[in-house]
Amino acid sequence: MKRIPLYVQIIIGLVAGVIWALLSGWLGWSHFTAQWIAPFGRIFINLLKLIAVPLVFFSIIGGIIKLGNPKNLGLLGGKTMGLYLATTLFSIFLGLLIVNVAQPGKAFDEQMRIENRINYEIWLQSEGLSPKDGRWMMNNPAYQTILAEVGSRVGYEEIGSVGDRLEVAQKAAERGPLTFLEEMVPENIFLALGDNRNMLQVIFFALFFGVSVLFIPKIKAESITTIMDALSDTFIKMVDIVMWGAPYFVFALMAGMVGEIAGDNPAMVLELFKGLTWYSLAVLGGLLLMAFVVYPGLMSIMVRGLSFREFLRGISPAQMLAFSTSSSAATLPVTLECVEENLKVDKKITSFVLPIGATINMDGTSLYQAVAVVFLAQMHMVDLSLAQQLTVVLTTTLASIGAAAIPGAGIVMLMVVLTSVGLNPAWIAIILPVDRILDMVRTMVNVTGDAMVATIVAKTTDLDHIENE
Ligand code: ASP
Repeated sequence: MKRIPLYVQIIIGLVAGVIWALLSGWLGWSHFTAQWIAPFGRIFINLLKLIAVPLVFFSIIGGIIKLGNPKNLGLLGGKTMGLYLATTLFSIFLGLLIVNVAQPGKAFDEQMRIENRINYEIWLQSEGLSPKDGRWMMNNPAYQTILAEVGSRVGYEEIGSVGDRLEVAQKAAERGPLTFLEEMVPENIFLALGDNRNMLQVIFFALFFGVSVLFIPKIKAESITTIMDALSDTFIKMVDIVMWGAPYFVFALMAGMVGEIAGDNPAMVLELFKGLTWYSLAVLGGLLLMAFVVYPGLMSIMVRGLSFREFLRGISPAQMLAFSTSSSAATLPVTLECVEENLKVDKKITSFVLPIGATINMDGTSLYQAVAVVFLAQMHMVDLSLAQQLTVVLTTTLASIGAAAIPGAGIVMLMVVLTSVGLNPAWIAIILPVDRILDMVRTMVNVTGDAMVATIVAKTTDLDHIENE
């Protein structure tokens, strides 16, 4: 087993897990799988999450102290944010291009689309909305029922109950222009550390703390540096230890997840795609284009001396984990390790660029949201005007920034995008059956995008030079 590269081992675990789930469904062993195998998958995700927050916390502080100069931080920050925004916008435009050209929503029977349009009109009337007026009637009882139905079919535990989802979506819908800034500043760091969903608050505090250390006398700062270094090394070691078991854990994760979808009838997995084939292909096509054409293109333009093959090889364990956990946050410890160890990117850069990327940079999610909104509109015979599509660009950017790095976050935020152009947010129920599978691929793209930006920032910034000035 030792000589097989880790990512290959993980792929073997992944495939074996799927085969096991289908086989056990066929043999009627799904109960056994759910009771005795699936828990190890959940234990794996918990272990990764357990490490993620403290690792981010200590490594950001350590990283900033090592930058040595607030000017360096400004330079890094500007470059990182610029690249994150540029890749997000690009992926939205790519998504819009694909869905407008392929028109997967028009593949449905004409009669059905007319029926859909009628229902849409009825919905608009009942909500007291005109098609351009997308205000969302959160208190409408009928609407709550639809959402409850949606919630009961989702089955993602991470986001919590339907109530939580409603709250998340409602908050997102009511955001002011500066809400994100407000939410980034925690009033109590221990509360922020206590909830994995507050990663941005943790990042903010760590940045603030790290920058403050730069302003205290060097002698005192040194002891902090030593402690932070030792602590982040310890958490990285914890990642190593957990990753020894990754192939087995991934097996359990996939067996549990596919088992849950397939139950005792393996053919169910294919059933899911019925009617949604073109939509799924449009999303997958866009995501694969991002991962295998756009990123390599960007890398070859901006970085010398690192082929895309080497890059892919280096981050493949993180990609595999993103695929099997559907969570950029849970994958983060491994992304950090892959980019540092395999791609030889300086810790000063990864510790800053990657945690921020995992929380706000989601190219896969934004591409998927753009495709999904236009697909759903096409399916209901709604032609989105240019102005509406530009609104989609704006809200999708915000929605992908706001989406938590956990499974299923993208589809919750999709409700906000739908609402922004006057469409019915409950339509997410239509694409829900295939969402988990698309979530896996878009999370992989999200993580690849973060790793790419970290690599580009590292290879195009001469930190030592600046430091010596
Ligand atoms: N699961 C994705 C992530 O963690 C977010 C999404 O649902 O699109 O990156």
